[in-house]
Order: sequence, then C-alpha cells, then structure tokens
Amino acid sequence: MPVYKNIGEFLDFINVSNEKFTLFEWKPEKSFRRFDLDLNIVKENPIRDIFFHRDKGNMKLVYIRKHHLIYTVGASPKVQYQLLEALLEYVDLKFNEMYDVSVILSYGNFSSGIFNGFKEVMENIIKNFADLDLVKRIHVECRVCNIVLPLFVKKSFIENAESYPVPIVYSHQGHAILCFIDKNFQHRGVELVNISG
Ligand SMILES: [Zn+2]
Repeated sequence: MPVYKNIGEFLDFINVSNEKFTLFEWKPEKSFRRFDLDLNIVKENPIRDIFFHRDKGNMKLVYIRKHHLIYTVGASPKVQYQLLEALLEYVDLKFNEMYDVSVILSYGNFSSGIFNGFKEVMENIIKNFADLDLVKRIHVECRVCNIVLPLFVKKSFIENAESYPVPIVYSHQGHAILCFIDKNFQHRGVELVNISG
C-alpha cells in the first residue's frame, strides 16, 4: 500500500527556519531526535524557489528556500518526493496565511513561542493530507520490473507547467523511468532513461 493517506506515520520532522534559527518544528509525539546537522547542511544552500532532495538512506530530506524562510521535511524513504513537496508547499501557504513573517522577524527580539499556535494547524494538515487534494496518483508501468507503479505527482507541478506533456523521472530501485504526464493527469508514455550524476 503506497504511503499517502497516513503520511503522518512516515514523517520524522517538519521544520520552518530562517537563516539563523528555527521558527517552528513539528515532530511525532515522543520523538526526541534532533536534526541540527541536516538543517545546517540545508542552510548552506543559497538557491531559492527550487525543491532539493537528499537521500540519506534511512531518511529522505526535501527542502526549499522561499523568500526569507527555509522549509525542510524528513521522512521515510517510502514516501515519494512529490508528496513531500506538496506538503511543504501547503505548509508554506498556511504559515504565511497565519503570520506576517517579515513583520514579526523585523521586531528583532520576538519570543520564539509566537509560532507555537502553528502546531494545531500542522497537525491538521498532516491528519487531513489526503483530503487536501494536492496530489494525483497516476499508474505507470516500469518496463524493467514489469509491474505497474503508483506515481504521485503534485497538482501544482502539472497545473503550473509551461507545456505538456510534462516529464517526470521516477527513480525506482536503482533504475529510472521517464514519464510524460498530460494536463489531465494522464500519462502519455514511459521510457527507460539512463542516470548519471
Ligand atoms: Zn522498476
């Protein structure tokens, strides 16, 4: 069963930071793990408005720098990157709906507790993630494995595309397939691609 509806069970943390410190962090109940090293590495990347992925073996990281904030999520390798991107996009939307971040940060010595109210919002996002309609599930065939795979794509990625069909690479157990998705979220072909890097 692909991870989607119960995504909360597969998340290690969600962090909202600025350049200097954490504004808000969600972790599963009873988790005392710290992710400072990962967050320091994330902060070293100055590029804005592009999602970055890191595969740490036992954990996937997805992060993006937007305006003056950096959003990071850590999750089980079972969760597809597109789901985590959709999650962070929605967290960004809700965080900025709730707080005028640039004004708050301009105070200088504000209390970090000011963002505690976001905990309830975050819990609701995680709990209701599958009902937010942020993601589409498409079935594609992996010709290497000869099986049909669920491919999750975030709707924003298709809807904001400049042309169609939109290519997306699905990295599947050491090989990769290139899938073309049209604007109705139908796949229009799948190719095996070579990988380097
Ligand atoms: Zn495969």
